[in-house]
Formats: sequence, structure tokens, C-alpha cells
Amino acid sequence: MYNDFQKHLAAELDAIRQAGLYKNERIICSPQGSRIKLEDGREALNFCANNYLGLADNPELMAAARQAMDERGYGMSSVRFICGTQDLHKRLEAAIARFFGTEDTILYAACFDANGGVFEPLLTEQDAIISDTLNHASIIDGVRLCKAQRYRYANADMADLEEQLKKAQAQRFRLIATDGVFSMDGNVCPLDKIYELAQKYNAMVMVDESHSAGVVGRTGRGVTERYGLRGQIEIITGTLGKAFGGAVGGFTTGKREIIELLRQRSRPYLFSNSIPPMIAAAGLKTFEILERDNTLQDRLHENTDYFVSQMKAAGFDLKPTESAICAVMLYDAKLSQEVAAKLADEGIYVTGFYYPVVPKGQARIRVQVSAAHTREQLDKCIAAFRKVLNK
Ligand SMILES: *Cc1c(COP(=O)(O)O)cnc(C)c1O
Repeated sequence: MYNDFQKHLAAELDAIRQAGLYKNERIICSPQGSRIKLEDGREALNFCANNYLGLADNPELMAAARQAMDERGYGMSSVRFICGTQDLHKRLEAAIARFFGTEDTILYAACFDANGGVFEPLLTEQDAIISDTLNHASIIDGVRLCKAQRYRYANADMADLEEQLKKAQAQRFRLIATDGVFSMDGNVCPLDKIYELAQKYNAMVMVDESHSAGVVGRTGRGVTERYGLRGQIEIITGTLGKAFGGAVGGFTTGKREIIELLRQRSRPYLFSNSIPPMIAAAGLKTFEILERDNTLQDRLHENTDYFVSQMKAAGFDLKPTESAICAVMLYDAKLSQEVAAKLADEGIYVTGFYYPVVPKGQARIRVQVSAAHTREQLDKCIAAFRKVLNK
């Protein structure tokens, strides 16, 4: 049997290579940071991590993780509701709710799980989910697992959302689902208008803050801070794997009864292991650092503003961004791959994206800015872009 299947797989893999979509992994031999060491000993400046606040190698987080490992052991060997809950998990859930101004929080092994387990327990075939077409794969999968009627609206298109909300009046309950920041353009969802439409058409709202938490809003509290809607949104999901330390872990935070029901019925929570104590402890330290002062958030905003203004002054075409994601538009697919490769030769790690990841003729280089980048590193990145593209 496997002989035939093996041939089938080889053909599939060839098709992926032919389409130029084969993903190779870059091997790093140092901690994650603004400067990384590669396998061959060379160094590179890293502009493609989601390490927005530079916490991935933060000494305070590492010390908190080490201390928790010494005091609470390595793993939990249990799901939460059997014997996988330590005080650390409860304290982290409370810290996340405080950060977002919500009522309660439930932890998951990843935000992929949070999104996979948020819709199905709450809504039935009597209800409706109205989802942005550019939502993250985990939201799409979560919606698929739910029996609710599905409606889709074009990215951040409020006229289309209104149309879909009108159609969804046929259902009992309505939930609008959106990413906080869309990862290809770096645009923030228009949560003020979404909220207004939700009020008008009697719907609830779910926002995935994975790319916006720690980044958007003056103190990095995400899109609800940006639009003055703290505590108003029913469901927020997010990850500990990006700005918040970059290890693993996800969460859903929001209205008390929603979180309570998820603890009873959400399958990735009930049937998957509890996060390790060291991750919970480092997570607690993350929120302690972000509550202490606004240093990291300010630095990220300064760095992003600097990068965007300098790149524009140098004549580059950047998508309007309200996050730490900067899309440098090249439009041509082949060019985007060549430029990314040449930038890598210059010691600058960025990612080139083209169809079908982004629309046809919209190829680009995505640059992700971090609080960890120094002014000198940002200047090196800009100089490399100028050199490679002769600007
Ligand atoms: C990264 C990301 C996720 C997945 O987070 P993990 O914790 O790594 O599973 C989910 N949603 C969005 C919008 C993301 O950007």
C-alpha cells in the first residue's frame, strides 16, 4: 500500500516545489533576538520574528521560568480539570483579564487551540458567525468545527459586513469574528465601526489580538485600547507566542459566563495538556513588566514610526500600517523572492510573500519591527533595502 501512497506524496511535494511554494526552514543557533546566529556561524539581523516587544530572550522572563522549574517542576502531566491547575495558572488567567480589562480568562496550549475551541461550544445551527475573509487559519478552522450558519465579509469592508448582518437576522444569536491586526498588510480592523454595526444589528464581537496585543494602543493593550472599547467586546483571543515572550500558550478572555462555559465544553481545553509551570510563571512576569511602565511599548512605537518614515523618505512604497508589520510593496512575485534572497545575503532576514498568500500582483516584503531593534539595526535594514533595490 505505502508504495503507491509514497508516489502520490512525491508528486504532491513536486507540485509544491514547482509552484515555488515549498517552505524551507532557516536554522538558528542562538536565542531568538534582533541579532541571530546561523548554522554556518554567520550572523543576521532579524526582521521576521513576531518578537514585537523583544521579550523572547528577556532575562527577567528567563529567571522567572527557571525559578518556576525549580519550585514547581517541569510538566503537569494532566489536563487542567483533573490535576493540571497550579496557582500559577490561575494567577496568569487573572493577569491577562486585568491587562485586557475583561472579566475572566481561560488558557490554552496555543491560540490555534483557543480559536479552534471557541465557537463550537457557544453557538449552534440556530446561530450565525460573520467572519472577515482574511481571518487567520485557526479562526477559519474553528468556524468550520461549529454548526452555526456562516457568513463572510471582504476584509475590513463595513458595507459588506452590514449586508451580511442583515442576512444573519434570520438566526438567533450573531457573532462577528475578526483579527485585530491582519498579518499581511499590518492594518488594524476597524473595531469602532464593527462595534457600531454589532450594536445596530444585535450581534456580539470576537477579536483575535495575536498580532495586536502588546503592539496596538498607547500601552499595547490592543485594538480595544486603540478604539476606547476596553471591556466592551465579548470575546478576545490571543497568544503568548508573539509579543508576550514568544514561547507557547494561548488564551480566550472576555465575558464571565462565556469563559465559564468554555471551561466545561471547549474540546482543546478539556482534552489537551496544561501549559508547563515555567510558561505560566514567565507569562506572569511578562504582564508584570508591561504593567510596571510603558518602556517597551514606547520603544516599539518609536522604532516602527522611524522605520516607516525613513523607508518612505527613501522612496519605498509601504502599505499604511498601524502595527509593527510593515509591507514593502514590490508587486512582482519573482522580484519579491529575489529581493528577500539578496537581503538575506546582506544579513537581513525578512520574508517575501506573493500569490496565493497575498492577492495576485500584490507581492511584497514583510518587515516586522521589534522594541529590541536598535536605531543602528534599523538603519542597516534600510540601507540594505536601498542597496538591493538601487534607491
Ligand atoms: C499567530 C496567530 C495565531 C496562532 O497562535 P499560536 O499561539 O502560535 O497558536 C492565531 N491567530 C492569529 C491571528 C495569529 O496571528
